[in-house]
Amino acid sequence: MAAAPRILIVEDETKLREAVAEYLGREGFATLTAPDGDTGLRMAREQAPDLILLDLMLPRLGGTEVIKRLRPGSTIPIIVITARADEVDRVVGLELGADDYVTKPFSLRELTARIRAVLRRAGGAGGKAGPDRLERGPLAIDFDARTVAVDGRPIDLTPTEFAILGVLARHPGKVFSRLQLLEAAFGYAYEGYERSVDTHVRNLRKKIEADPSEPRFIGTVFGVGYKFTGGTGDVR
Ligand code: CA
Repeated sequence: MAAAPRILIVEDETKLREAVAEYLGREGFATLTAPDGDTGLRMAREQAPDLILLDLMLPRLGGTEVIKRLRPGSTIPIIVITARADEVDRVVGLELGADDYVTKPFSLRELTARIRAVLRRAGGAGGKAGPDRLERGPLAIDFDARTVAVDGRPIDLTPTEFAILGVLARHPGKVFSRLQLLEAAFGYAYEGYERSVDTHVRNLRKKIEADPSEPRFIGTVFGVGYKFTGGTGDVR
C-alpha cells in the first residue's frame, strides 16, 4: 500500500492553517505546515512533499516568489490559495506554473477534491500503459506532457482550460452541460460555478480558434452546454 500523500500547507492565518491540516489529516493525508513563505520554501526543498498548498499573501516571502524559486527545479504539484480572483490566471497558468487554485473563502471539501484531482493528474495513481495522446484534425493533445498544439503551433492553456478541452475532445459530438463538464474535468462540481465554464470556453476559443466567433472545435449547444466539433467534420 502506498503511504499517505504528504501535503505541505503554507498559510499564515493560523486558524485556517490548522483547520486545513486537521481536515486533511482526517481525509487520510499526512500534513506539514509552514506559517510563512521562507519556511514553506525551505520545507518544500527539504521534505519533498507530494503537493504544496500555497497561500499567495504570505509574510517574509510571498507565494508567487516561493513558486518562482521552486520552479523549474521542482515538479511538486502546487495548489494556490488566493483571495484575489483576478490574480489567478496569471499565477496559475502562464507565468508561474502552479497546477490549480482555490479562492478564499473555499470549502474544505472542495479543497480536498482539488488535491485529489491534482495528485491524480500528477500520476500518483500510476498504472497507465503507453503515451496518452489525442489528435482531432489540426488539434493535438498530449495528456502526459499536458501540451496542446493547433496546426503544430503550441498553445499555452491554463490547467482549467486544458482539463475542459481534454474532456470535450475525448468525446467528440457528445453534449456536456456545464455541470457535467466541471464534474468530468475535476471530479466534482457544484452549483454556482457553472457560469465560470463560459469564461473558460471563451478564453479557450481565443487561444485555439482562428476565428473565435466561428469556432471549429468547441460548439455551443444553446440552452444545454458545449460539445466538441473539431476534426470529425460531421458533428457540427
Ligand atoms: Ca495570507
